[in-house]
Amino acid sequence: MRILDRDVVIIGAGPSGLTAAYELRKAGKSVAVLEARDRVGGRTWSEDMDGATIEIGGQWISPDQTGLYSLIEELGIETYERYKAGASVYISEAGQRTVYTGEDFPVGESTVAEMNRLIAEMDRLTAQVDPDAPWEHPRAEELDMISFHHWLRTLSTDEAACNNVGLFIAGGMLTKPAHTFSALQALLMSASAGSFANLVDEDFILDRRIVGTMQGVSIAVAKVLGQDVFLNNPVLKLDWSEQGVRAHGTDVTVNAKKVIIAVPPNLYSRISYNPPLPRRQHVTHQHQSMGLVIKVHAVYETPFWREDGLSGTCFRPTGIVQEIYDNTYLGESTGTLVGFISDTQADAMFELPEDERKAAILEGFADFLGPQALDAKVFYLSDFGSEEWTRGAYATSYDLGGLFRFGPDQNKNVGPIYFSSSDLAGEGYQHVDGAVRMGRRTAVRINSAIDG
Ligand code: FAD
Repeated sequence: MRILDRDVVIIGAGPSGLTAAYELRKAGKSVAVLEARDRVGGRTWSEDMDGATIEIGGQWISPDQTGLYSLIEELGIETYERYKAGASVYISEAGQRTVYTGEDFPVGESTVAEMNRLIAEMDRLTAQVDPDAPWEHPRAEELDMISFHHWLRTLSTDEAACNNVGLFIAGGMLTKPAHTFSALQALLMSASAGSFANLVDEDFILDRRIVGTMQGVSIAVAKVLGQDVFLNNPVLKLDWSEQGVRAHGTDVTVNAKKVIIAVPPNLYSRISYNPPLPRRQHVTHQHQSMGLVIKVHAVYETPFWREDGLSGTCFRPTGIVQEIYDNTYLGESTGTLVGFISDTQADAMFELPEDERKAAILEGFADFLGPQALDAKVFYLSDFGSEEWTRGAYATSYDLGGLFRFGPDQNKNVGPIYFSSSDLAGEGYQHVDGAVRMGRRTAVRINSAIDG
């Protein structure tokens, strides 16, 4: 067992923990990062599969994500535009397939008008919400009492419009059914991206990708930190007092003035705290839970859909696969599609034997893009729900009423213990950008606490 003395120990080598360590190092503080897995990057992770680069976790960056943009600029990392050229495909609730261009789903004039009215109402409220303190909105308590599903139906009787608008935040972002989280939580999600209109515009929210993959950003930061990153060192025990902390990894123990717990909130209780955390933290952490989404990749000999003038972007409000995009990595001649299967649909898929699951998902792809979509040479299904050090995807959110009740305390430190993750961010909430912003913010707070 190695015993180290540092100014700050960071638990978790995802983008948030690594950014915090990097900033603290730049400010002259000594750091050690203890990571449970045998790799850095956390929920960002890429692999080469039969010659195709697959980003299993986080990958896209949008123009407003200036925290992440400034970090990659500093590291000399570039971005490239996601493939977007061509028409999209929409399948209605009745199963009708339509090829369309432009931003509006081909759902009939009155539903389009109703969707645009709902989006405008979301945007009117979003403009009043501070993503760093949504609980301060004058109607916060009321908006946190009603589920997003039911709230939309207080605004409209058009089921198709409610389902389509709901999809963007429920299946698309929080990856929970819309009846399980509040309207306030939905408004935080849209405020974190600047507006609801930004969230529903896939050309904005899924704008660009990272050259070298999103995990490459964490790998680059870890390289700067060098010997101070310790892999295969889950911290399961943390001793603390007002004077400092002792973090116990598998083969490294670190004594430090402060600790940053840079793991998603659903994993805080994996660590045994001595003495225990205060009641407020114990209770709060039980109200932050992960969503569930399967990110599924299919790689083909060529991006065949492009020959038909299709972008690969596909949507449907019901069905197994509700979103698909062209996810071919920069410069590759093969074609890669990525699809997302959220919440209860993901539950249903995991019930199936592996071969039936694969067949059902590829049929979902083929519904949109034709029988060639059945012929995948690589098929890979991400399963973050089974990963011990994540336990879901993409991120955590509060249950009904939780954001208003517990949110104001989520970012408070407990003596020398600080929390940092994308899940606690305002701007960039649930995104790598939010992880970076939180890492930087936490480093500034700790620096001033140490320097007095
Ligand atoms: P994490 O990335 O989860 O890192 C936490 C780290 O802590 C992990 O490495 C974990 O192993 C480690 N850890 C946990 N417990 C312990 C312990 N006890 N001891 C030591 N180490 C521990 N974001 C985007 O911006 N764009 C996207 O396109 C996008 N798509 C996504 C797709 C998927 C499938 C998923 C899962 C996420 C996606 N995200 C996306 C979200 C993004 O990946 C996360 O917001 C981001 O990775 C969070 O960073 P973090 O550092 O807060 O946490």
